[in-house]
Amino acid sequence: MKYLNINHLLITIAAMEPSPSNLKYQWLGLISWTAASIWLLGSIIPELTQPGAVWLITASAICAIFCSDLLSGIIHWAFDRYGTEDIPILGPSFIKPFRDHHTNPQDICGHNFVETNGDTCIAGMPLLAAGLILDPAHQLFWVSLFFGISMSGFLTNQFHSWAHEENPPKVAIFLQKTGLILNPEHHKKHHSGECDSNYCITNGWMNPLVERTRIFQRFEAIFPPTVQKDSKPPVQ
Ligand SMILES: [Zn+2]
Ligand SMILES: [Zn+2]
Repeated sequence: MKYLNINHLLITIAAMEPSPSNLKYQWLGLISWTAASIWLLGSIIPELTQPGAVWLITASAICAIFCSDLLSGIIHWAFDRYGTEDIPILGPSFIKPFRDHHTNPQDICGHNFVETNGDTCIAGMPLLAAGLILDPAHQLFWVSLFFGISMSGFLTNQFHSWAHEENPPKVAIFLQKTGLILNPEHHKKHHSGECDSNYCITNGWMNPLVERTRIFQRFEAIFPPTVQKDSKPPVQ
């Protein structure tokens, strides 16, 4: 029989109201990410005159879409299974939201654009920094790849949120049906059982390969997770 855990209820309510300081960092993350993206794009555009540049950039863009989905799965799995919520910075911004999400999947829908995507922008900054360090004249594929991963991944949490919304925007429904972003039915598998499958949440394209190779489970067999699996959370 279900019972009301008051401590859990209080923690959940607190998680629904982002603190002003968190929001400040999320705004800072979004602004920094936008500025760095424009800067990096500005370094790529002049290289379009290189022989074969268009093909190189196209190849890097395709790789980036798969890489960003895989990265979303690795990050999601790592924060679901390892670490604790009191780890500085990572705990409150990433580990706690991922774990709370298993208990209250619908809470992800109640946030505005900055609250939903600000932390992902912060997480994407190292990718942009890596792209800015490299020389696009000689490493165009890698510079474009880092730019592409950051671009296709920064709305991951938005796509995840739309997968839980009862009435997402029409453009989201269209993109979900085409499979370009995370499909709600596909994502439901993560929220069934012990929340230990279909970790990739940008578009879910890498989930079949990840599930078939059981790469996360193999890693867990060598390095036991620090938390138990969540069991029987509500499905939505
Ligand atoms: Zn999860
Ligand atoms: Zn979810």
